[in-house]
Amino acid sequence: MECQKLAYLEQIVEEIRPLTKQGKVATYIPALGHANPNTLAIAIYEGEGNCFSAGNISEKFTLQSVSKILSLALALQEHGEDYVFSKVGMEPTGDPFNSIAKLETSVPSKPLNPMINAGALAVTAMLPGKDTDEKLKNLLDFIHQLSGNSKITYNEEVAQSEFETANLNRSLCYFMKSHGVIEGDIEDLLDLYTKQCAIEVDCNDLAHMGWVLGNKGFNPITQKKVLSHDISRIVKTFMVTCGMYNDSGEFAIKVGIPAKSGVAGGILCAVPNGPGIGIYGPALDNKGNSLGGIKLLERISAERNLSIF
Ligand code: GLU
Repeated sequence: MECQKLAYLEQIVEEIRPLTKQGKVATYIPALGHANPNTLAIAIYEGEGNCFSAGNISEKFTLQSVSKILSLALALQEHGEDYVFSKVGMEPTGDPFNSIAKLETSVPSKPLNPMINAGALAVTAMLPGKDTDEKLKNLLDFIHQLSGNSKITYNEEVAQSEFETANLNRSLCYFMKSHGVIEGDIEDLLDLYTKQCAIEVDCNDLAHMGWVLGNKGFNPITQKKVLSHDISRIVKTFMVTCGMYNDSGEFAIKVGIPAKSGVAGGILCAVPNGPGIGIYGPALDNKGNSLGGIKLLERISAERNLSIF
């Protein structure tokens, strides 16, 4: 569905856009370095399916860590809570998202939560399907239902670029394999994980997914329940406790909306029983979140009184 451009939102985006100069585009995945740091966009889905947007909304970007909440939801749907949380914990961490430190010191070795890379890799290994192609297809089908956009697929260049440089994620996987957290072929898992992270969307897609997630997993447009109430509750809780890297606490105070960000500059927000918001701004702050995106969310949350706290 086409989103309606809102003049008031455009004005806020243009006021905040100059700040993006203070941020930096991620380059550790070389293909992400091509993004234009000046880009800033927002889309909002609400009510029965009204959509509003502003900024560079036709820009596409890859989900990166935003995909972690989607793979988690699908793994929970397939295996149930008990199994998933026997492999991955529920606690936030102050360590960097790709840290290996806690894996070595916690006994038994178990990733602290599904939002850090170790936990997300263990969750990706649980996706339903007999091989990488089938697992990816099942994840994409699920994303098509959540986003209402059946054209979503992954960006091959970004997936390849990450696969070739994912040595830290490789070491996390081999470490977890040797401790029995994951099984199977690690290169296959990295192939699937990097394709999952390279799934390409726009702000409308993120906003729609956030809206369905906020609406307890029910899509009012198709009248379909995409997710159970329980799974959408678990996912939103992780978004609050560890969705914004090591800024999750400050973000909860200043914005107060369940949100998950990724290093490509996307943020998916799900207000319980309220709007879904999609953000794109590839210039990141020093915590790895979209700098302009956070400022936009602070403004919108305050003006519309969206904090859940
Ligand atoms: N694919 C990225 C990685 O595993 C995702 C990181 C992120 O968005 O936080 O390093």
